Amino acid sequence: MVTIDEMAAFCKRKGIIFPSSEIYGGLAGFFDYGPLGSEIKKNLKDAWWKYHVHDREDVVGIDGSIILHPKVWEASGHLANFDDIMVECMKCKERYRADQVVEELLNIHAAGLKPEDLTKLIKENHIRCLKCKGEFSDAKPFNMMFQTFIGPLQTQEARAFLRPETAQNIFVDFKSIVETARLKLPFGIAQMGRSFRNEIAPRNFLFRCREFEQMEIEYFIHPSKLDDCPYLKDVLNHKLFVFSAEMQTKKQPHQELSIKECLDKRIITTAWHAYWLAMEHQWFVSLGADATKFRIRQHVSDEKSHYALDTWDLEYEFPFGWKELQGMANRTDYDLKQHMKHSGKDLSLFDEDTKQKVIPHVVAEPSQGVDRAFLVFLFNAYHEDKQRGNVVLKLHQRLAPFKIGVFPLLSNRDELLTKAREVFQVLRQDFPALYDKSGSIGRRYARMDEMGTPYSVTIDFDSLKHNDVTVRDRDSTKQVRVKLAELKDTLRKLLGRELPFHKAGTPYEPSAKE
Ligand code: ATP
Repeated sequence: MVTIDEMAAFCKRKGIIFPSSEIYGGLAGFFDYGPLGSEIKKNLKDAWWKYHVHDREDVVGIDGSIILHPKVWEASGHLANFDDIMVECMKCKERYRADQVVEELLNIHAAGLKPEDLTKLIKENHIRCLKCKGEFSDAKPFNMMFQTFIGPLQTQEARAFLRPETAQNIFVDFKSIVETARLKLPFGIAQMGRSFRNEIAPRNFLFRCREFEQMEIEYFIHPSKLDDCPYLKDVLNHKLFVFSAEMQTKKQPHQELSIKECLDKRIITTAWHAYWLAMEHQWFVSLGADATKFRIRQHVSDEKSHYALDTWDLEYEFPFGWKELQGMANRTDYDLKQHMKHSGKDLSLFDEDTKQKVIPHVVAEPSQGVDRAFLVFLFNAYHEDKQRGNVVLKLHQRLAPFKIGVFPLLSNRDELLTKAREVFQVLRQDFPALYDKSGSIGRRYARMDEMGTPYSVTIDFDSLKHNDVTVRDRDSTKQVRVKLAELKDTLRKLLGRELPFHKAGTPYEPSAKE
């Protein structure tokens, strides 16, 4: 697997992602998605929305504001508790996240440790600044909220915050959403959008940014129906790697288990939580990710957020280790109750099934970063092909920025150019397509490989005689000949994975000079 730095360099070279404001030296933790990256990101978000909202009858979406009333963050606990623990080098003033330094150097799990425990570990193990070997200060909390002011006055009353998570819009809009969408328990509310965290040490490229996007669902159930999940049967046989709190404490490796086994052995204690963990793993796999690179890891007791009953992370094996892609907490009724207390508004609802007035519980909140998911799909797709001498980005068809490349075989023959433009204009009505006439045909294929374009259509001299084209498959480099009259339909079926490539047309071996 390529390293994260090699991936960042590849992304910059191909126009996938650039460091933000680079001409001024860049800004740590901020990135811009370039011409290809913005297309892939859009496709990823569309695929998430389809799977989590459009394909379901029990989930609706919202698109909330980034700045919310400051009281929201008092109620949610972010102003008081949204801290990471920081240490500062007393010599060079470099700042680090204390738990990360300890984890990296001592190879232990340190998330959730208190400042005094981290200070003790740092002192006992003589840990010093990774840059200059200077001594560290005591560890202390650092609040990650980005602050701004609303209106012309920069007073305490005008102080506001950029949201550090998208979830709170869902809780504060809860009543309006439930009433207008006429929701009945159980149901989910989905949202995707920007979040901001003043991370102490952003690193690992897109993995830890200061501005990022989240896509998440808050899934609400009747508080006494934790196991009443009508969809459970769909995922009971789904298998995945499981790393429970007990396995971690006993220093055992993760195990492959089915959802049924997890529930029977009480490793996951509620059916709803198990269901959503399986669904989230399935989402990645449905878009071509390798199922064996994921695991679910339960938070150990001192790692859980103050509001969570049980939390599992979906993790991915990045080149820099197993890392969180998605946190899924059972948040109970913590947030709704907090907002009821702070706003004085009633956020309970009447459950028609039980004829009870209840404050629903969030049994699971599949909450993930768009940028981390983006990184997963990139690592999954990236292949260095020694024979071809170029990178092949084997992105799933739905994620690929362009679906079709269209080329004239030679760039100096007017009759080929005219025909190729004609075919391009027809295809681009239905598919994101790209026309390319520069360089040798081999070079153009290599460019498509590196951009992840699944199929390339070439117009050659035979095309002029027989009204057909060659279609090349990115992953195998195999080619078939397809009649122009059937081209759109064939490409649609190939892109929808309804047709294996070898059945898409007549097998074609390009001549050596091609
Ligand atoms: P971490 O422990 O890695 O800091 P977290 O537990 O604080 O993450 P959550 O609050 O659970 O993260 O946020 C939900 C998701 O949002 C994460 O699983 C991750 O995918 C994404 N996310 C959180 N912080 C960042 C960040 N700084 N950069 C990119 N994505 C992030």
